[in-house]
Amino acid sequence: MTNKWRLDFSGSAKRVAVVGAGVSGLAAAYKLKSNGVNVMVFEADERAGGKLRSISKDGLIWDEGANTMTESEMEVKGLLDDLGIREKQQFPISQYKRYVVRNGVPFLFQIILEPFLWKKSDSAKVSAEDAKESVGGFFQRHFGREVVDFLIDPFVAGTSAGDPESLVVSNISDPLLPVKSHARYTGKYLITDMWAFDVETTDCMSSGFYFGLCCLLLPCASKTLTDALCKAFGKDELSLKSKVLSLSYSHDGRSALENWSLCSSNQEKQSLGLSFDAVIMTAPLCNVKEMKITKGGNLFPLDFLPEVIYMPLSVIITTFKKENVRRPLEGFGVLVPSKEQQNGLKTLDRVPKDLYLYTTFVGGSRNKELAKASTDELKQIVTSDLRQLLGVEGDPAFVNHFFWSKAFPLYGRDYDSVLEAIEKMETNLPGFFYAGNHRGGLSVGKSIASGCKAAELVISYLEKSSDDKMLKE
Ligand code: FAD
Repeated sequence: MTNKWRLDFSGSAKRVAVVGAGVSGLAAAYKLKSNGVNVMVFEADERAGGKLRSISKDGLIWDEGANTMTESEMEVKGLLDDLGIREKQQFPISQYKRYVVRNGVPFLFQIILEPFLWKKSDSAKVSAEDAKESVGGFFQRHFGREVVDFLIDPFVAGTSAGDPESLVVSNISDPLLPVKSHARYTGKYLITDMWAFDVETTDCMSSGFYFGLCCLLLPCASKTLTDALCKAFGKDELSLKSKVLSLSYSHDGRSALENWSLCSSNQEKQSLGLSFDAVIMTAPLCNVKEMKITKGGNLFPLDFLPEVIYMPLSVIITTFKKENVRRPLEGFGVLVPSKEQQNGLKTLDRVPKDLYLYTTFVGGSRNKELAKASTDELKQIVTSDLRQLLGVEGDPAFVNHFFWSKAFPLYGRDYDSVLEAIEKMETNLPGFFYAGNHRGGLSVGKSIASGCKAAELVISYLEKSSDDKMLKE
């Protein structure tokens, strides 16, 4: 573990509680520990990883959550090096090839784009007015409806399970930024900039929509990334099946440190009676809303936290024998635009990793109810779509279904109120920091970066608080 920023806290070990052992919480805790801070991670689930969830069964390995990530975030590069798992990265077969479905048939991405990439757009700039517009409206205005239906719609579905009309331009993070900022140019620049952003600032998620130049595929993501992170913590530092129920901040007026205590569903000896100098909260906001927070003995009401809308998603794993797949596509992902539902296709998108195992997502904002369907129903839907798309024959040899009731928070019109509420908690609760995919981006890379940034803020806070304490003494 590198200790580039290892701190000297003048002999007094600092202790920080991290709530949530998703990738943001683990990254935050790892960074703190690397800097000589004592950490305790509290995780409600019986396993660490959160939305990274890898299963290995019957000779098969699959991911029920994230399966790709990119190295575009500085923090991700640093983490992969520190953990020594860079050599474990894998790149998808024919990763430069993407398919988008049109008229019920998968087309190579470049082929489908060509007819309308040359369409001239207005010469508008990204103004404040643009920023409030829906992503769909914005791109329709600049590039036409076809671009929205067959490029933006599957892109948004593949990266957030949302739809272009629900997302607001100002809330989408870097993947579309270059497109946003160059929308005033002709369509030609759209593709130029997308290639450019792909190399530099890709925020890659499930579908691998990003032309792949820096797409990192972690097979069995949680086995590699999560396990490597967890290995850094001792038994007493990572507490599973420990749902945090309440947090209490009590400032005695003397020091800003050692003011936090918390209560979890599995209060183990080591956390009982412990005080913490700071807290990094990475639990989704819907879970934070359920917690009881007190400040100076009084309830700190959390009624200002807005209701976050979450996208439900079912992940269906199917396998087919090679000889039963008539048109195995060589590439990384088939995106099904929602328009294609009129051609009978119901799946949100797809990431064929190899010739046999298919991961199919059903749900998102356009198919919320379908995401909740039974395994049998989903098996029928997925098999029927794969039959149409890839020419699979017969029934899948293997089916696995995992349902996420809250797969992704929606960065919609009310997203500003989410950020304001997070800031309000941080301002009013000294030593409380929030990180995770509700802030700054949905991808694994963004979540890692968010955790690392929170850890840096905590370190500055601890340094400052230690200095203040020494001055008082
Ligand atoms: P989470 O992973 O949600 O972690 C939060 C943790 O907090 C959870 O473990 C939860 O159990 C815990 N918790 C909640 N309440 C409490 C409590 N009271 N006390 C203690 N612990 C609590 N991104 C990509 O970049 N590439 C992909 O390919 C990709 N595919 C995806 C596919 C799916 C199906 C899904 C759902 C997401 C995908 N994502 C992908 C998005 C990405 O995986 C997530 O945004 C990211 O992993 C979120 O990490 P996080 O730590 O912020 O939150």
